[in-house]
Amino acid sequence: MKVLLVEDEQKIADFVCAGLRARGLDVRHCDDGNVGLELASQSIFDVIVLDIMLPGRDGLSVLKALRAVGVPTPVILLTARNELNDRIEGLNLGADDYLAKPFYVKELFARIQALLRRLAGDRSNTVLVGEFKLDRITRHASCGEHSVELTTREFSLLEYLMRSAGQVFTRSQILEHVWGYDFDPSTNVVDVCIKRIRAKLGELDAAGESAALIESVRGAGYRFRRAD
Ligand code: CA
Repeated sequence: MKVLLVEDEQKIADFVCAGLRARGLDVRHCDDGNVGLELASQSIFDVIVLDIMLPGRDGLSVLKALRAVGVPTPVILLTARNELNDRIEGLNLGADDYLAKPFYVKELFARIQALLRRLAGDRSNTVLVGEFKLDRITRHASCGEHSVELTTREFSLLEYLMRSAGQVFTRSQILEHVWGYDFDPSTNVVDVCIKRIRAKLGELDAAGESAALIESVRGAGYRFRRAD
């Protein structure tokens, strides 16, 4: 995945580049708004991380110019703490998300992933594993002709497992994805939520086969059973 980072503070640029590269992203960095606009206009990046206060041309103006010429690349703005007006203006100009400084690379990475997932998800409104289906519009899970409605959390947890069916996810991975990175990891919300989802899926078929699709892996976490 290709990321363009437009940031003039060398220290921040260094830790963001290092942190994102360590997580496997291909990062291109520049420290000037005009150069950033020129690079971003090539539409070769999957996401742009854009600082607001920049030499040459400020981030909001870069964003405005990009959207004006129809560059759809998702943009995450880096804002100074308490710059509420910048954030509002940025979102109005077509930014997809923002992050206030100071921040952890871990959080930026999570935001990038969430953003790309959201955009990918927008292209398809159903998630399918075998006969089992999730509908993102109605938030219904169904198997055959029966369906149940899920809450937002239940839905995003189930979707998370289903999108990588067969893969085991730890409780902390699930927590980070569904509840947010800073949620207290000692809680049992994941188990409680899984229990609720299983109970709902139990209504889909008399034999309880749908509920059994979510497997507990002892000492590890949970997975959604891959279709045969
Ligand atoms: Ca700056």
